[in-house]
Order: sequence, then C-alpha cells, then structure tokens
Amino acid sequence: MKERILTGLRPTGNLHLGHYFGACQNYLKLQEEGNEFYLEIADVQALTDNFNNPEKVRKNVYEITTDLLSIGIDPNKVNFYIQSKIPEIAELTIFYSNLVTVSRLQRNPTVKTEISQKKELFGEKGESITYGFLGYPVSQAADITCFNGTKIPVGEDQLPLIEQCREIVRKFNSIYGDTLEEPTPILSETKRVKGLDGNEKMGKSLGNAIFLVDDSETVKKKIMSAKTDTNKIHKDDPANPDNCMVYYYHKLVNNEENCKRICENCKKGTIGCVDCKKELIEKMNELLEPIRTKKEYYNNHKEEVEKIINEGTNKAKEEAKVQMNKIKEAMKINY
Ligand code: ATP
Ligand code: MG
Repeated sequence: MKERILTGLRPTGNLHLGHYFGACQNYLKLQEEGNEFYLEIADVQALTDNFNNPEKVRKNVYEITTDLLSIGIDPNKVNFYIQSKIPEIAELTIFYSNLVTVSRLQRNPTVKTEISQKKELFGEKGESITYGFLGYPVSQAADITCFNGTKIPVGEDQLPLIEQCREIVRKFNSIYGDTLEEPTPILSETKRVKGLDGNEKMGKSLGNAIFLVDDSETVKKKIMSAKTDTNKIHKDDPANPDNCMVYYYHKLVNNEENCKRICENCKKGTIGCVDCKKELIEKMNELLEPIRTKKEYYNNHKEEVEKIINEGTNKAKEEAKVQMNKIKEAMKINY
C-alpha cells in the first residue's frame, strides 16, 4: 500500500536542533521514498496557546516554511499547506469532540506537561486552562484523518497525541462504520533532543533552543552558557561527560572519533570546558552555515515561497473535500 505521510509544525518560532534531529531527519528520508507527503503549518493549533499574540503566529508561518525549505525539504515532493485555510479540519474537530471525554484529555501526558510549562497562561495548577488548548489533541486527530495520514513522523513528545488520535479513529469506526485509518507514528533515530539548560526537551517555547538560523555570534553565546558538569570547577578537574550538555551536543554534530577523544579527555581532566565548547561551536557552525545560506536565498525570493504555500494549500483543499464527503456520508449528515 502507498503510505500517506502527514506531519505538522506549529508556527511559533524558527526550527531548532530538536526539530532537525528529532523529526526533520525523517522528513528528509521519507520524501525520497515516493509516498504522498502532506506537511501542515499548524497556525490554528499555534493559536491555542498564542491567541493573544497573532502577529507572532503570522510571522512564523513564513519563517517555519523557509526554514524547512532551507534544510532541504523539497516542495516537489512535500505538499506544504496552512491549517487555517482548510475549514474541514475545524469541522472535523467538532465532530470528533463527541468521541473523547474531558477526563481523557486531562490525562493526556503531553497536554499535562505543556499545561505545567505554561503557568503564566493557564495558571499555577492549570486552573485557567482553555477549552481550545485542552482540546488540541482532538484538532490534531482532525489534522491527521482529514488527509488520511497513515504514517506520522514526529518527535517522542508527540506519541500520546498520536495514541489519542488512534483512539478517536477506533471509536469513530465502531459507531459510524469502517471509514478512517489508524495512523502509525515514526520516530527518528534521535527521539528527543534535550535543551541547553538540560531540560528533557528542547522547545521553541522553552527558551532553551539553538535555532538553525541563529548567527554564529548567537551560537557562540548559547554554547558558552550551556550547562556543564557542576563538579568541574577547574580546567583540569576530571568530570562526567554524561552530566554535560556540551558533550551531549557533540554527540549530535561531531564525529564518533572526536566524541570518543572528548569523552576520554573530559574523564581524565585533560580538556577544559572552554576548549570543548570552542570545538562544538566550530562543528555547529559547519552544520548551520549551508542552512543559513539557503535561508538567505529564500528571503530574497519571497515570491517562490508564496507560490509553494499557495499551490500546496490548493492541493490540500481538494483532498480535504474528498475525505470530508466520505466522513459526512458515514455520519449520515451528507444532506
Ligand atoms: P512549541 O513549543 O511551539 O510546541 P516545539 O519546539 O515543541 O514548539 P512543534 O512545532 O510543537 O515544536 O513540534 C514539531 C515537531 O518537532 C514534532 O514532531 C515534535 O515532536 C518535534 N520536536 C520538537 N521539539 C523536539 C525535541 N526537542 N526533540 C525531538 N523532537 C522534537
Ligand atoms: Mg510542541
């Protein structure tokens, strides 16, 4: 069977290393496998926790699209579209909202973690949680099923959301007859990338990310302030590289031989943190420089980006209509 790849990103900031290693590596691989591939710029979902900041979301639709193009996502193989331009997704969200309980949403581990990270918006204990944010997994189930997505490349933090979608699909099929397909998540080799502060997740909203378009001065500053083993006070103190974010990022961007050397020298106390950080800065810039160059190209060719988004969104609109007819027929609301 030909798979339908479906994934999405929230336009809330630029792409960071977490996206790049945690999700985009799979996008780059899957786009070469001849499957149909839909990539959603999830502006409606971004508004669930940025409803008071619409300029931010609008600006980042362009930013995230050009970042994706700059890392090599090929618009001839991947169909970009904007979520808010597909009203069927909002319609489906309403239909599916009958198939999920409020307590199930409150128990969703991803939603729980995110509520606790957004205290300024949702209160100390989540007492000010909005209906929209609590319900975003339902809207994500609509994103996936609206295009009959079968394979979903995501980072590990998304797994409970895919599980919730599978439950909705099963419930839908058991009531209205076999209509929807259960999607399967696909994880990258690096399932989850930690933040500069040692947090389990590097995130756009967590203030702990290295962005792919950061200039070399910013990269330098961020790496210089990354968390290292607190037991290493002097340059020649031995330390544990497993307690160090600098070594952690070396493992992402440096080669095996260099990582082995750094690990051994760190344990023996024969490499200081400053030298280790300098080497990381160099390797990081080697990775980021070609991406920065491509980003600059798109910034100078904005009309190309607009065309990619418009054409992709038009194709997605056609596709959504077909799926919607099928769903309305199953639900007996095809008047
Ligand atoms: P936000 O803070 O706005 O939620 P985010 O950094 O979590 O931003 P998303 O747009 O929500 O980014 O996620 C897009 C994709 O990138 C998802 O598949 C998600 O799992 C993946 N992803 C994001 N951060 C990481 C990370 N640190 N490690 C692995 N995958 C990640
Ligand atoms: Mg997220």
